[in-house]
Formats: sequence, C-alpha cells, structure tokens
Amino acid sequence: MIDWSRSQQLLERARRVLPAGVASNVRAAERPFPLFFTQAEGAILTDVDGNPYIDYVLGQGPLLLGHSHPAVLAAVEQAMRRGQLFAGQHELEIEVAETLVRLIPCAGMCRFGMSGSELVQAAMRLARAVTGRRRILRFEGHYHGWFDNVLLSVAPPPEQAGPRECPRLVPGSAGQTPGVQEDALVLPWNDLTLAERLFAERGREIAAVLTEPMMCNTGAIPPTPGFLEGLRRLCDQYGVLLIMDEVITGFRLGLSGAQGRFGVTPDLAVFAKAMGGGFAVAALVGRRDYMERFARDVNHSGTFNGNVVSMAAAAAALAELERDNGAVYRHIEALGTMLMDGIRALAHRRDLPVLVQGFPAAFHVAFTELSAIREYRDYALHCDKERYGRFKVALLQRGVRVLDRGIWYLSAAHTQEQIEQTLDAVDAALAEVQ
Ligand code: PLP
Repeated sequence: MIDWSRSQQLLERARRVLPAGVASNVRAAERPFPLFFTQAEGAILTDVDGNPYIDYVLGQGPLLLGHSHPAVLAAVEQAMRRGQLFAGQHELEIEVAETLVRLIPCAGMCRFGMSGSELVQAAMRLARAVTGRRRILRFEGHYHGWFDNVLLSVAPPPEQAGPRECPRLVPGSAGQTPGVQEDALVLPWNDLTLAERLFAERGREIAAVLTEPMMCNTGAIPPTPGFLEGLRRLCDQYGVLLIMDEVITGFRLGLSGAQGRFGVTPDLAVFAKAMGGGFAVAALVGRRDYMERFARDVNHSGTFNGNVVSMAAAAAALAELERDNGAVYRHIEALGTMLMDGIRALAHRRDLPVLVQGFPAAFHVAFTELSAIREYRDYALHCDKERYGRFKVALLQRGVRVLDRGIWYLSAAHTQEQIEQTLDAVDAALAEVQ
C-alpha cells in the first residue's frame, strides 16, 4: 500500500492557515486528497513521501516541455541576474511578441500579462470597446478563469442548468455579483443551429463570442466540422468579435495554436500555460487595428506584465517548441497515439465502456457508453465520474498521476518506456474498477 502519511500531515498543517489547505480551489478537489510534492523533473513528479509519479497533469497543462526543462531554467537564471522587474521596457518583450506575431495567424500585435484569467478580461473589454456592445456569448462547460463575468455555467449541475436549447446561467461561486448575468449569454457548444437562432434574435447586442477552440475543460472535445467556421461567419455577419481562448490549446495543439490547426482565424486570442514553459505568463494577441486601441483609450495594466523572468521563460520555451521543425510535436503525437490506442485496447479486452477522445497532446478518458462526447451535457449526464475517480486513485497508487476530470496531458519529456509503464498501471487500475 502506498504511503501518503507525510502528505497527510502537511495537509493537516496547511488547513490551519490555507483554506482547504490549498492555494487554488481546483486543487482542493484532488482525489484522494491534495498531495504535497518536493521535486519534478522531465515527466516525473515526486511527492513528500518519496513516491514518484509519471505525470500527466503537467501543472494543469503548461509543462508541454516537461518539468524543469534545462534550456528554460538556464534562460531564466541568466536573464534574472540582470534584474527582475524594471517597470519599464526591455528587449525580450519585443522578441517574444515578434515570435507570437510570426507564429499565430490572428496575431497582429500582442499584450502580456501573468494569467489566462486576466487576459480573457482584457479581451472582453477590448471587444466591448470595439463594438460598443455589452453581451458576451459563451458555451456551457467552457472555463475562462475565475472572475465573476465568466464563472457562469462552467460545471452547472444538470438539474439547475435549464433546457438544453436555452440554458440557464448558473454561477460557479457564492459571492458573484448578479449583475454580470445581464451581459452574458450561454449556449451548448458544437450546435451551430442554436447559435444561428440566437444571432438572428440578438446578434446586434453581442460584442464577442468567447470560446475554447477545442473544449478542454469538459472532456477533450474537438469542434464538429463547420462549427468554428460557422461562428466566424456569424461574427462577420453581425459585427461581433470572435475571441478564442487558447490558454490550453495554445502551442499544445501546434505552433500556430488551435486556430492554425483548425484553420479558423479569430479576431483576438488568449495564450498562457504552454507558452511559458512552467512560468507565469500570458498573452492577448489579435488584429492590429483592434489591439491598437490599447494605445489609445482601452486600459490594460499590471505590475508584473512582461517581467524579465516571464519573458525569458517564454522566449526559451518557444525556441524549444520551434526546434528541429517541430520535433516536440512529432514526439508527442507518436507517444500520445500509442497511449490512447493502448488504453482503448486494454478497456476493450476487459469489455469496459471506456471512451478515449481528443488529440495525443490532450485527450480525455471517460467511462461512458457514448461513442463521442460533443458538449457539456454529454459529459455531465452520461459519464460515470465516480468510477473514473476510483480509476484515477488506482492509477495514483501505481505511480501514474492524472487529473480527476479525465483529461490527460502529454509532454516532450515522456518516454516510450514511461508510456509502457503507464499502460501496465492502466491495466491493473481497470481491473480494480471492473
Ligand atoms: N482559459 C482556459 C481555457 C483555461 O483552461 C484556464 C485555466 O485553466 C483559464 C482560461 C484561466 O487561466 P489562469 O488559470 O492562468 O488564470
């Protein structure tokens, strides 16, 4: 039996001074309880009891290059010796911005911040300034940060969510100001007919459509063919900005983001997680004429925006991702495919209803009879979350760490041997939950 006694002691101590013992609510939900870690390198994370795990959580996505990537650490160390924060400009900011403008289809200009949550707010403010309208259309099950105006219908209990065709906005937290609901509209994802109907009724009230280009916060749900293209067309027709929240998909699905992979260019997009190689950094990119409003009448500020450490990390991480014509992506594609196919085959052999869906760099595993998860309610109503929770704990006990909500992330640091070890653990864990 695995020993988690030191983690348990630390959690008890932490709970006296940190609510739920954690710094982010998401972590409090970790099963069997939030663990404490001491070290991480490559694809291996080690807890305070000395247990190593092959890590598919990867910091909730950012560690596309793996933990403690030597080139990223060296770049940060070297840069920060010259200072950390100038409250003034430095050349690395231009360098990273030039790289983003070169790589990302919608990027005419960019602004930096420290987190995805913040820059989603900047994107929405800019869209309202450009259009002179208030409402933002979003989709059930998408997460765009923890602020009041977007923490709506992210994981609504189905009994509170109202009819599918006309969902009710469900706040995700106590204490949210009720006023934000007046500016929000919500629909199921991947249903263009419903979006067309809503635009016909209220299109001229909408400032922006805000969407994850692949839904990663519920399942790993690719857009159905024509859906993103349809949103783009509706936005053009009604003078609405299309904002892609690429906080997870950015650089994970390819060097040009999900927008490059799916061939649909938004007006604005937010990048974070993977662009910083594990350091705190985010970017809002978009059409030059819109972005230039920040130089005139739209405020976006932040003490730590564009700081030396964040910029050095981003410059190094992006250089690694571009190295050898995308070797990182080929590696992840090969190993991720092996892992996805392996999980499917093991489940099939045990006659278990397991769905593995998504892309090798970010895929989702669920216990369900469905042949595909296409929107939030498929997941909420038809996936056995309790069984997946037991499966997750069984994996953890065998040295494999995955997220409780079913998404698995891969990194350039995973090896074929680790994938084989993972599949052994999957087989044993499936036997346990059979
Ligand atoms: N948008 C998406 C799609 C996310 O997945 C997240 C975080 O997981 C955010 C925004 C918020 O980013 P951050 O946690 O950096 O504030």
